[in-house]
Amino acid sequence: MSFTIQSWLPRLHLNSLVIIIGLLFSTSNIGCASRTPTYGYKDEHFTQFIISYQKEAAKFATINQHALANDIYTLEIKFAPGRTKTELGYFYQDFHDRMIVINEDTFFDLDYDGQEQLLYHELTHALFHAKHNDRMLGQNYPASIMSTYHYKTYNSKTRDMYINQLFGIDIYQTH
Ligand SMILES: [Zn+2]
Repeated sequence: MSFTIQSWLPRLHLNSLVIIIGLLFSTSNIGCASRTPTYGYKDEHFTQFIISYQKEAAKFATINQHALANDIYTLEIKFAPGRTKTELGYFYQDFHDRMIVINEDTFFDLDYDGQEQLLYHELTHALFHAKHNDRMLGQNYPASIMSTYHYKTYNSKTRDMYINQLFGIDIYQTH
């Protein structure tokens, strides 16, 4: 999360996008169903990850699923140019917005696991106010996908371990 002056530029751009999308939805929805009824203002690329995130969270009885669904509903997730070349994404909120911004220049360089890892990382900042966890299990092997840096260690073999860490421990390490 950051509130530097730089964040104003993408914000202005994003706010105008939201207005345009809002207008499109309000006109195209007359007489037909919305394409993404439960996930407004979210690019469809993110929908699969949001659904799987919620599915994984639902396995943890300690998580208030109703509150989580509500928080997801009101969260915006957008593609935008990166603030830096290496930043894959970030979350910020102010009085008007709660928004995850994904770097559109780097997202499609990631494989599916990398995309999921990035989305889960940012969703956990946004939905649980979780902070970074930079504990390492070994060199270049983070204990958590809430590490500051994105490592390519999240895959089908390590996914369960990282999910248990995320919803069992990381969500309670808040700012
Ligand atoms: Zn982060």
